[in-house]
Amino acid sequence: MHSARPQPIEKEAPVTVSDPIGSFSSPGREPTVAEVGEFPTIARAVAGRRQPTTTLVGPGHDAAIVAAADGRVAVSTDMLVEGRHFRLDWSSPQDVGRKAVAQNGADVAAMGARPVAFLVGLGCPPDTPVSVLDGISEGIGEAAEAIGAGVVGGDLVQAEQVVVAVTVLGDLEGRTPLLRSEARAGDIVALAGTTGASAAGLALLAAEHTGFTDLVDIHRVPSPPYEAGVSAVLAGARAGTDISDGLLADLGHIAAASGAGITVEQHTLEPGPRLRAAAGELGTDPWTWVFTGGEDHALAACFPPEAELPDGWRRIGRVHDGSGVTVDGRSWDAPGGWESFGSANSR
Ligand SMILES: [Mg+2]
Repeated sequence: MHSARPQPIEKEAPVTVSDPIGSFSSPGREPTVAEVGEFPTIARAVAGRRQPTTTLVGPGHDAAIVAAADGRVAVSTDMLVEGRHFRLDWSSPQDVGRKAVAQNGADVAAMGARPVAFLVGLGCPPDTPVSVLDGISEGIGEAAEAIGAGVVGGDLVQAEQVVVAVTVLGDLEGRTPLLRSEARAGDIVALAGTTGASAAGLALLAAEHTGFTDLVDIHRVPSPPYEAGVSAVLAGARAGTDISDGLLADLGHIAAASGAGITVEQHTLEPGPRLRAAAGELGTDPWTWVFTGGEDHALAACFPPEAELPDGWRRIGRVHDGSGVTVDGRSWDAPGGWESFGSANSR
């Protein structure tokens, strides 16, 4: 599977810029993106960022050059729109950037790949304070660096609201990708990470509840178990997904693509004390968060029955002949998760 690694090209020195906003700074008002200008704003976004060895040519040219030693690239993209996917009064610009990286990184991790490079398309109104763009870029850059990936390119355009479009490139490093379509009757369904906290955090923000900052923080910046995708493939898993729309909804994608049914074993998913306490205060059912809450970006995978689950994975159900997803054999009546254009939810 491995092809020869491309010859390294002399690495680019990091782009450095002097502070271009200095001349606009005035007490009491932040400089806007229009005042700073497109190119200086982009330059600020990439200034001083570290690049991994897979980035052969970084930002500063018409295109970046990224090594794809495997010969295959796992690629995924995601858009976040202000007012629909985030609110700048609920999340800092840095958090929005970190979340964008987590959402995209989780998608390639769910396939068994490692994220190596991110591309970022940003849109914003011209009167957006440049600190908002700087913050989003900083969050993206820091989060990418933390998982060993680089931000290799991007674009900035004028838009009606702040829009963050992130594309991730992932390296399978010779592994067989985890597909949604490869689950088989008899497989064990396992989960790495937890579900429900992000939905709880969103509900707390919507209710203007000031407590449970641990849950709110998970909503603002999820922490996908990136390594778990790799360990799942190595342990023999065949199918996988990240939990972005809700546990039952995402397992439903695997069931449908594999032509099988999945039963979730409810006792394996007991909500923790924090979820129970938050649900008690909001007068809601924590199981709804566990089963239908999106955006935690835990990973789910289907392992052959003889496989030994790697560290960080725990059994939550099984695959069987049939179709659909049930909880202990019964259908779950609440809405099954978030669909962007669905009628059940309208975030
Ligand atoms: Mg996904």
